[in-house]
Amino acid sequence: MAVEQKMVTVYIMGEPQLVPEGSTIIMAWEYAGFQLKKGLGCREGFCGACATVYREKGDYKLKGGLACQTVVSEGMSLVQIPYVPAERPRYNLAELKPDINTFKELFPTIFRCVACNTCSKACPQDIKVMDYIQQLKRGDIAAAASTSFDCIRCGLCALRCPADIVQFNAATLAQRLYGKYLAKPSPELADRLQEIADGKYDAEIEELNNMGHDDLVKKYYSREMKIR
Ligand code: SF4
Ligand code: SF4
Repeated sequence: MAVEQKMVTVYIMGEPQLVPEGSTIIMAWEYAGFQLKKGLGCREGFCGACATVYREKGDYKLKGGLACQTVVSEGMSLVQIPYVPAERPRYNLAELKPDINTFKELFPTIFRCVACNTCSKACPQDIKVMDYIQQLKRGDIAAAASTSFDCIRCGLCALRCPADIVQFNAATLAQRLYGKYLAKPSPELADRLQEIADGKYDAEIEELNNMGHDDLVKKYYSREMKIR
């Protein structure tokens, strides 16, 4: 006997829509007939492209999350948001120094942080966003690069910041400065680069280039995963 699919009502741009229980926000939009062309990426929580806001029934708070990871609930209200405006200064990494003055010049807004912790609460990656901003204010670039390591640039922290700080772009600069100037050279990386230069992986790359979509998908999902 076929099991009946349970449905929930969500409100998409104010219109009630019946969607399967357990759907993610993206699945709900698509089930309701919308074709999403922007604000979508990997659909697996890694790329940060599908940041969205929603309200749950009876809760006045506007919540944020990744549309591919957030499961809908009865009475949830969904809207599309414009992209998160983000101050992104242009710079040449080779001309920068890995110190606090670089951040004073390129990201002066971080010094306006009022330590409200809204950014950390908004982060779908559970990153201590406020902590890395404080680390940057102290000029501790290595610590900020490490604290922000799992950032997927979804923008939800910046969306909620009362001080107009674009935390993730400051984190990106910290990670770049750390990689270029502060990280110890890695012998393992040097070995791997040499192997690549020697053509050790040429045959495997050729095989991947010639694989069809379905085989690539199968290979991707059967790969060895390293969880940090
Ligand atoms: S730090 Fe900000 S941009 Fe990065 S994952 Fe968290 S909320 Fe998204
Ligand atoms: S939301 Fe903005 S002001 Fe509040 S702690 Fe985070 S960076 Fe600071």
